[in-house]
Amino acid sequence: MKDRCSLEPNPLLSVEEARENIVAAVESVAGREKTSLNEALGRILSQTVYSPIDIPCDRNSAMDGYAFSSRDIMPGQPFSLRLAGSSWAGRPFDGQLQAGECIRIFTGAVVPPAADSVVMQEAVAAEDQNILFPADTAARQNIREAGEDVEQGGLLVTEGKKLTPMDIALLAAAGIVEVDVKRRLRIAYFSTGDELTALGRPLEPGKIYDSNRYGLGGLLKDPAYSIADLGRIPDNRERLAACLLEAARNFDVLITTGGVSVGEADYMKELLAELGRVHLWKVAIKPGKPLAFGMIDRCCYFGLPGNPVSVFVTFHQLVEPALRRLSGTHPGQRLRIKAVCTSRLKKAPGRQEFQRGILAQNADGDYFVSAAGGQGSHRLEPMSRSQCYIVLPADCRGVQPGETVLVEPFGLFL
Ligand code: AMP
Ligand code: MG
Repeated sequence: MKDRCSLEPNPLLSVEEARENIVAAVESVAGREKTSLNEALGRILSQTVYSPIDIPCDRNSAMDGYAFSSRDIMPGQPFSLRLAGSSWAGRPFDGQLQAGECIRIFTGAVVPPAADSVVMQEAVAAEDQNILFPADTAARQNIREAGEDVEQGGLLVTEGKKLTPMDIALLAAAGIVEVDVKRRLRIAYFSTGDELTALGRPLEPGKIYDSNRYGLGGLLKDPAYSIADLGRIPDNRERLAACLLEAARNFDVLITTGGVSVGEADYMKELLAELGRVHLWKVAIKPGKPLAFGMIDRCCYFGLPGNPVSVFVTFHQLVEPALRRLSGTHPGQRLRIKAVCTSRLKKAPGRQEFQRGILAQNADGDYFVSAAGGQGSHRLEPMSRSQCYIVLPADCRGVQPGETVLVEPFGLFL
């Protein structure tokens, strides 16, 4: 069997070339706004942020124990120091530590200037106000230096970072209440097709429910995007043209599904050529060919195929990197790992294929992948059970059980 698409007169673009072309054709939105740290998760930082303070601010203890000066250590011998007070987290010792003295100290509590060592509480014996330290007590242990994590003026988070919960915690540790972020990328989407029926309505003969819009809605749920669902548009040239133009005026990005092939009722590519500029539409990707990408005025347009699995594959491989760049962060590279394939996979040479797989791992950490089931681009049920793509190179002619393949788990970027 030979992939029909590989016999086409115009060579198809490889997935990598298509991705590079698409990413190169877009640039980050310029607008920015301030947001409180509470609202910043998943937004794209539009400034590099430096720390106004040392983190931690004070030299403090890494343990519950006793703080003392290493000058009081008697090398190779146990020694005892007089207990002069306590330092609690948030309530520092307010006296002056003298030679021959120690204080009780708790994790995170300020270490007095005269002390440079903490020993954990389990290592000492307390007798009234005397604390007995063992012979092997080491100097300068269990101390967290001021600025050890980040010094005042040091780099916290770099411009273009999509903020994670860890970034938010770091910014909060520096006392930052508000950050500058890129404005949200405005994305609209609609489905095309005379056969599409709204959920909640009975299905008439030959009709199907519009599942793509729900899948796309899920793919686009992201704090860096503001999304608008423009509904279902029938295969009517005039209505489609009007919707494209209207959306192009109001959004940064428009994504449609269906009607992008070369059938009688497939108008999207033709309309893109008429109303805007086509950048590419033939990519050696399976499932997913055909696909349109171009600009209508300043709006970036993606015409995705109608088949539901193709929507996911083309979105992950070709649309998402561009949306990331448009929203102000880097396009991102998806994590790929090697796994032993436990299924037999059919594949004709010609197009790079993204089959749907189920991952497993043994106790040694080795990965195994099996096909999630039927690989037809209309089959949503295996897609729903899968956790990864099995990425098969264009020239691959199928996989036998036991062969190693490349696997791309969903949602993991480097
Ligand atoms: P098309 O690309 O318009 O020729 O559609 C290809 C296949 O995808 C057809 O079987 C369509 O019925 C199906 N399809 C198109 N749009 C949707 C949609 N929004 N939801 C579910 N299936 C769709
Ligand atoms: Mg259609």
